[in-house]
Amino acid sequence: GVDVLTFGETMLAVQVPEPLTIGAGARTTIAGAESNVAIGLARLGHRAAWAGAVGDDEPGRLVLRTLRGEGVDTSHAGVRPEAPTGGLLRERRVADLVRVHYWRSHSAASLLTPEDLAPALAAGARVLHLTGITCALGPGPLEAVRRAAVHAHTHGWTVALDVNHRRRLWGDGDAGRALVPLLEHVTLLIASDDELPVLAGAFPGRPQGEEATVRALLAAGVREVVVKRGGEGAVLHGGDGSRHTLPALQVPVRDTVGAGDAFCAGYLSGLLDGLSPAGRLERANTLGAFAVASDGDWEGLPRRDELALLAAAPGSTIR
Ligand code: ATP
Repeated sequence: GVDVLTFGETMLAVQVPEPLTIGAGARTTIAGAESNVAIGLARLGHRAAWAGAVGDDEPGRLVLRTLRGEGVDTSHAGVRPEAPTGGLLRERRVADLVRVHYWRSHSAASLLTPEDLAPALAAGARVLHLTGITCALGPGPLEAVRRAAVHAHTHGWTVALDVNHRRRLWGDGDAGRALVPLLEHVTLLIASDDELPVLAGAFPGRPQGEEATVRALLAAGVREVVVKRGGEGAVLHGGDGSRHTLPALQVPVRDTVGAGDAFCAGYLSGLLDGLSPAGRLERANTLGAFAVASDGDWEGLPRRDELALLAAAPGSTIR
């Protein structure tokens, strides 16, 4: 088995550094929250597998080739001839405003079923990493997530869930109603502070505020809740009532997309390495900082020997 198994939708991403016009320049890459996490883990030397689905097309081949090139195990990834690989276009409309256009409904990944996941689950892993995005892709992917969570929980794996709420894919009510029933199988819940109300809304009595929501999550069976606070850092709430807070690293902000996924990769890496709660948070913050300080969702993520790089004096040259 691998260290971490994850699955979901990874798309062809086309980045246009200006408003979209005839002849605008573009850069191509791949984008997907779960594969970002897998790449982050693979770069740190962990064995990570991605078991999503792509179409039998050139974007799908680019996705699989890139993941393999990054050392991610794709042996249980699926190729579906009946549907295309999803795509997105990021258009820099004005200096600090990026607009994203998606082509993902009826994509290959939206057709994922629990059966597609069976071989990857049978192969085993120490950690299953799930996201709310996969749950939002459609009924098949949601059921695949549910069954994967049950399987992993029953077999004693760690089950991580990143809420990753995408309002373009579903509403707060649907997300809360889908995610809260999963919590009894979830070991580690990761959410941004602004995503907590999405979960709170689906609890009876609707807890108000972070403290009450975290208490409800822990009572639902989650063992650890990690709350991301962007440039402010993160907080870890333990099931034993413990709490660890860590401010974000001070880095120049280049591109914040992917910070949350990098953070998850760092946290899971710390978990696999047996680090203390403070050490796990520090690894997570370090990866989040790498993501915001470099262009691309995952391209700037560190290898293990680069983890201390951000401690170098700003503007310095490493020779
Ligand atoms: P996204 O969905 O864009 O990936 P997110 O909302 O899930 O992001 P954030 O809370 O924005 O995640 O950021 C995740 C982590 O990345 C933070 O907890 C922090 O560790 C790091 N981070 C984010 N912004 C900054 C910043 N400006 N400077 C340093 N670190 C940052």
